Amino acid sequence: MPGNKCQYFNCLKNTVKYLGLSMFRFPKDRTISEIWAINSASLLSLDVEKLYSRYLCQEHFCPDDFIYAYDKKKKKLKPKAVPFKFNLVVENQPSTSSGTK
Ligand SMILES: [Zn+2]
Repeated sequence: MPGNKCQYFNCLKNTVKYLGLSMFRFPKDRTISEIWAINSASLLSLDVEKLYSRYLCQEHFCPDDFIYAYDKKKKKLKPKAVPFKFNLVVENQPSTSSGTK
C-alpha cells in the first residue's frame, strides 16, 4: 500500500520508492510485537493495537525468517520472526562470516 513506511529507526523505506520491497505488519502477539518495537528502536510508546498498523521492511530480517510461497513472488514471515536489533555499530561492519546459519 502506498504511504506505508518502514518504521525501523532511520530506515523509512517504502514500496513506492523501493519496488518489490516486502513490508511486514507488526504481529498481533503482544510479546513479539514488543520485541519488534524494541529492536527497531522506535514506536516504543505505542500500544499493540496501534503497532499492528505499522510496518517494517524486509531488510531487518534474516533470510531464514521468510517463508516463500510456491511461486516465490510473495514472502511471508515466520510467526516468531523478529527483526535485527538496531545497533549503531552494525553499519559497515566487515563481513567475515557470510553464510552463517
Ligand atoms: Zn526498513
